[in-house]
Amino acid sequence: MALISVSRKSPRSGSRSQIKRFKMYIDGDWVDSEKEETLEVINPATEEVFAKVPKASKEQVKGALEAAEKAQRKWEDLSPLQRAKFLFKIAELIRRDRERLARILTSEQGKPLYESRLEIDGAAENFQYYAEFARRIEGDVLPSDFPEQTIMILKLPIGVVASITPWNFPSATVARKLAPALITGNALVTKPSSNTPLSSIELVKLAEEAGLPKGVLNLVTGAGSEVGDEMVTNKITGLVTMTGSTEAGRKIMESASGHVGKLILELGGKAPFIVWNDADMAWALKCAVWARFWNCGQTCICAERMYIDEKVKNKFVSAFAKAVASLRIGNPFNSKTDLGPMISEKERETTESFVERAREEGDKIIIGGSEPKGKGWFYKPTIVEDNDQKSPLIQEEIFGPVAPIMEVDSFDKAIDYANDSIFGLSSYVFTKDSARIFKAMHKIKFGESYINQVGPEQFQGAHTGFRQTGIGAEGSKYGLACYTQLKTCYVDWDERPNLPYLFPYRKKH
Ligand code: NAD
Repeated sequence: MALISVSRKSPRSGSRSQIKRFKMYIDGDWVDSEKEETLEVINPATEEVFAKVPKASKEQVKGALEAAEKAQRKWEDLSPLQRAKFLFKIAELIRRDRERLARILTSEQGKPLYESRLEIDGAAENFQYYAEFARRIEGDVLPSDFPEQTIMILKLPIGVVASITPWNFPSATVARKLAPALITGNALVTKPSSNTPLSSIELVKLAEEAGLPKGVLNLVTGAGSEVGDEMVTNKITGLVTMTGSTEAGRKIMESASGHVGKLILELGGKAPFIVWNDADMAWALKCAVWARFWNCGQTCICAERMYIDEKVKNKFVSAFAKAVASLRIGNPFNSKTDLGPMISEKERETTESFVERAREEGDKIIIGGSEPKGKGWFYKPTIVEDNDQKSPLIQEEIFGPVAPIMEVDSFDKAIDYANDSIFGLSSYVFTKDSARIFKAMHKIKFGESYINQVGPEQFQGAHTGFRQTGIGAEGSKYGLACYTQLKTCYVDWDERPNLPYLFPYRKKH
């Protein structure tokens, strides 16, 4: 693989004048931390601190939730169409600022600028997609068991939503939560990952510019274990919508149990990528490289383990290695770069430890397996042959640019291996045989199957998963429904004197 223009001279910390300070947004005001504590935002390609954000106190989180609670009452009184106007405006402003937002995203997250632009487009599209639901938040009208009665099921707003987002798609994940929550009449407090708070802050600035009433959307920054925990445990919060690791999802479930909080949890993935001998091999290869290595392998739907038909495995592996060797890693602002850095030193160390363990266990490292010299948290795209279904490389989420490959001797075994995972988000199958396609559709127990195709997921698809990948859905009408509370109304338009079960019973015997 080619290494291009990685900065080797950058200092650890930018000069004071280069470090930009950002604020939180609570009840329509931009505020600093009342504890006067900040968090550093680091460019993962240069290891340079370039921004600081406040650390919210518990009181500030509470204040944000109270502001949301107050503002929500008026917000829900608007018609969905009136609310949609703000969402359309936000989409328009995101598109106006596309390049600026993409550059901020790449600076804090490290993905190639090209990928950041696509993510910003996706964030805008999310607001537009859910704004278009304004006339489609539909309930049901049902026949009653009694004459002269109508039953209606309404979809009401839940109230205050706590939105908690990860670092890997810092713009798309927050847009995917804000847009459906707002159109259905909820108010929010949102908290980005401490690694990548700026994309959320910039989005909230645009919501303010769009004229969103104060208090409807609030933003706090700080650690998940403190700021996030306060958002989850506070009983003002009617719904927690969190995207992140399965480990953090489990903690959030525990914390929310105190007030039986509703949850949407979009957690980890370990997507199987099955290639059968009848597939279009050139296409499957091209897809495999992208599905594993986009966003430097740090995507919940990334192909995290490859199950290849033994009849084509050797051919596949050598062509895959050749394609991976041609990937260019380096400065994410360079238009020739395919892979930027990983998000942090900690994440790179985790990835390294997976590869080291595999090496110690005698697995064959086909390509990569080390970090390039120089600044930035880069890691070379790596392929490992691993034929142990129980190994950590196959069972645990890697979340870095490492592709484990295993050969399998039957399609049924590939499906069994695919399902043998605590995760159940995305899956990939490459075959031209229609019987295999239908079998995969029904038997692969994952929330998504990309068949002869790669992701990412589309807005109208339900992004959801089996097993420990989470609860609820995002995207689609099903994702929208998760932000509403069902309410059934039994409406009579006349008295019913013959109702069999009203007191006094003695008259009925
Ligand atoms: P993470 O779990 O470390 O953090 C995610 C968010 O949760 C952060 O804002 C964090 O501060 C917060 N948090 C952590 N512990 C918390 C707690 N106890 N209470 C409240 N908030 C808490 O995840 P990450 O490292 O930022 O992101 C990577 C993970 O996200 C991967 O596992 C990936 O698979 C997952 N992910 C899933 C999807 C999906 O759609 N299923 C999409 C993107 C990322």
